[in-house]
Amino acid sequence: MAKHGFPKRRQPFYRWLLTLLAVWAATGYASDWPIIDITDLSIAPVRAPAEFLARAEPATFDEVRRQDFAPLRPRDINQGISDGHYWIKARLVNDSTQPRTWFIHNETSYIDNLVVYARDNDQSDFSHTHLSDRQPFHQRPVDYRNLTYRHTTPARGHTDVYLNVYFDQADSISLNFMLADEDAFHQRVREENLFYGAYYGILGLLVLLALIVYCLLRQSSALYYALFLFSTGMLWLLLNGFGFQYLWPNSVALHNEGFHIAFLLFAIAGLQFSKSFLKTERHFPRTHRAFTVLQCIALAGIGLRLLGNYGIVLHLAFGMLALLAVAIPAISWMAWRRGLQYARWYLFAWLIYSISLLVAITSAYLGWFTWGMASLNYLQIGSLLEALCLTVAMTERLMSLETDRRDAIALAHQDPLTGLGNRRLLQKHYESMRTRFAQEGIPVFLIMIDLDYFKQVNDTYGHEAGDNVLQEMAKLLRQHSRSDDVCIRYGGEEFAMLLRANTLADAEHIAERVREQFADNATHFQGQIIHHTLSAGITEVLSDQETLSVRDMMARADAALYQGKTTGRNRTVIYRAEDPSSLESGDGGDARQKKC
Ligand code: GH3
Ligand code: MG
Ligand code: MG
Repeated sequence: MAKHGFPKRRQPFYRWLLTLLAVWAATGYASDWPIIDITDLSIAPVRAPAEFLARAEPATFDEVRRQDFAPLRPRDINQGISDGHYWIKARLVNDSTQPRTWFIHNETSYIDNLVVYARDNDQSDFSHTHLSDRQPFHQRPVDYRNLTYRHTTPARGHTDVYLNVYFDQADSISLNFMLADEDAFHQRVREENLFYGAYYGILGLLVLLALIVYCLLRQSSALYYALFLFSTGMLWLLLNGFGFQYLWPNSVALHNEGFHIAFLLFAIAGLQFSKSFLKTERHFPRTHRAFTVLQCIALAGIGLRLLGNYGIVLHLAFGMLALLAVAIPAISWMAWRRGLQYARWYLFAWLIYSISLLVAITSAYLGWFTWGMASLNYLQIGSLLEALCLTVAMTERLMSLETDRRDAIALAHQDPLTGLGNRRLLQKHYESMRTRFAQEGIPVFLIMIDLDYFKQVNDTYGHEAGDNVLQEMAKLLRQHSRSDDVCIRYGGEEFAMLLRANTLADAEHIAERVREQFADNATHFQGQIIHHTLSAGITEVLSDQETLSVRDMMARADAALYQGKTTGRNRTVIYRAEDPSSLESGDGGDARQKKC
């Protein structure tokens, strides 16, 4: 049995020899042809032994066939910006007993022309197929975003292929062709659809989110962010070829002329978003003006392109993209250094873009990397990461705006001299106390306080001394209030405290303590001792019996306070609804009250 196993190892050699003989017999000049074995083909880039020829000028097929080709090495893949004609030739050999269908396509969607000459076995003439992106999409033989040629090589046969690829006008050319059998090709298409579907899905959601934020908050930077994301999406729809495949299949002009316009729109939107996001007009007026000039140049470039110019706009568009990659991170960095906290995510986002763009440009122009235009994929992933980071930056910016807004509200609710609240705060707290009363049932009281003869304090000791007394008063109120009470300076030398207490007696007790301590503790100011007293009026605001409005509670507390003033001052008076004349008061005349 072991001996019979021997031929198994030899079989590949026989198959190889047979193939070579068959090829040699069929053509007579087998050695002229670089051979690619497609017997077990799945998917592979076309490289040596495939051969290529670069010509500055167009040439007839017969001329080219007589020329010497050179092996297609990785470093030949990127040809930079060129309007030359590039030829690739190979013999695809199918050693299997089944015919093999294969697909060949360039890795970029923006190739203008792909001409394929093909000949099976010993046919004498080559078939000729001209694929062009100047035809509506549906005229393509293969429904794929990149120009694709499809062919079937007979069983135990071969196909001689010449590819001629060129642009109508100079552009960035890549000789990276993929050769795939039917299954691998469709598998690749499915994978790409998944990847790009996720990309455009996320981008679309971010655009929607930015628009919603804009509608809700009327923040112009959110609108510019949406525009920027939209222009990013347009740019990639054009570059990937999905726009032409699915969105504008009949618009040959948009597919061909749209690239540089999309690049320039992207630059305009990116600059506008940065101006708005980093508030350059306020923080960096010179940069702001420079950005506006750049936007005008980009706009002029779009105009030129629409008027038919190609060369200038091509370089302008690439130049703009490169400039963006330097200028925006630089200004974000400066903004961050100046203390604009939310600029750091902006900087991070644009650094991602800059690095991936740098890799793409290096790859396309310098040929340092041998991966063809795969760097475009990195740039696209970079652009998605950038978009996500920009969302974080936007969120951070909105949060900082919210903090500013809260600070502004707090300031609007504050009395600058004493740091206590003001009437607006009283109104606000009254609302929340009503809610709490409905839930917990703890009564609420209002104590109104007015300093006695305060005009005399000012007149005797000066206005500054008067201010000092007002501040002492505020301190005292703070000491006697709990966290859920609210103390305000109502105006002038009038104060109010809205407090929760179980009984009227508790509220009165607090008012009395404040009154007594104010009377007992004179204010010391610049060597002067200022004695002072106050009068207070109390009313029940929310209880099982009462639910007063803000206006009513103020009126009642004021009435009680007035009573205190007219009956000698330095006293606390409780408002009694039944008989205003019998307002209960405490002063120095009563057992529990003192007179000044
Ligand atoms: P009464 O006992 O009847 O309340 O007498 P009064 O002098 O306190 O009352 P009046 O309303 O006649 O005077 C209030 C004084 O409060 C007049 C004003 O100069 C003074 N005042 C109001 N606001 C301020 C302030 O912010 N700082 C200082 N120092 N004084 C103020
Ligand atoms: Mg007063
Ligand atoms: Mg007063």
